[in-house]
Amino acid sequence: MRKCPYCKIEVGGDLSKCPICQSKLMGEPEKAYFPKPITQQRRSDFYKIQSFVVWVIAIVGLSAEYLLHIKIPAFPKVQWSLLLIMWLAAFEFLVMRQFKPGTGHARKVTSMVFVILILLLVTTHFLNFEIFNMTLFEITSEWVVPLAIIGSIITNFVFAMIDKNGNTMSYLLTNLLVGVIPYIILYSMGKGTPIAWIACVVLSIIFFIGAITFKGRTVLAEVQRRFNL
Ligand SMILES: [Zn+2]
Repeated sequence: MRKCPYCKIEVGGDLSKCPICQSKLMGEPEKAYFPKPITQQRRSDFYKIQSFVVWVIAIVGLSAEYLLHIKIPAFPKVQWSLLLIMWLAAFEFLVMRQFKPGTGHARKVTSMVFVILILLLVTTHFLNFEIFNMTLFEITSEWVVPLAIIGSIITNFVFAMIDKNGNTMSYLLTNLLVGVIPYIILYSMGKGTPIAWIACVVLSIIFFIGAITFKGRTVLAEVQRRFNL
């Protein structure tokens, strides 16, 4: 048993500092009460390294563009270092989310897909050129984005089917939102809806009905649990 010379208390386990005054404890340590938080330490080292690298890239990018006046030859007007910083900020956001405890797989996957898709749209809006009679932005907004959303809808559906913790509803709602809301936005903007977006809506509704069919009881129990019915 160790003792704090200032607080006059006895402290069990192998703590080296007094839990009250943080002074060094005196006496022989006992067997540890708690395991050492090794993974936590490793994570924070990784976190520091990656955030330092991100800062370095951001500063090098900004000074290359605004101090050395380096531009992308095909896009002399585009402020490319700001686009770079946008991607770096998103990367940081995603890293932080990965380390946030208690966030389900579905929400991690969905938020990651969404952040990347929005950045792709912004980036191709500025770095836009034509390939095969389509602009890069059109390819992204009419094919890449809806196909990626279809991928995340299928992933969420699989997660909903194998979920054993009674969290089916969150997967279902996510699926319905990501499938239907973009369609409503496109429709209300009065633009023709590309075929991949239509496939997106149809699939999200089919999977919603599928999940209700196979997991209906679980969902009902979950609704009652969450809303205290
Ligand atoms: Zn003390």
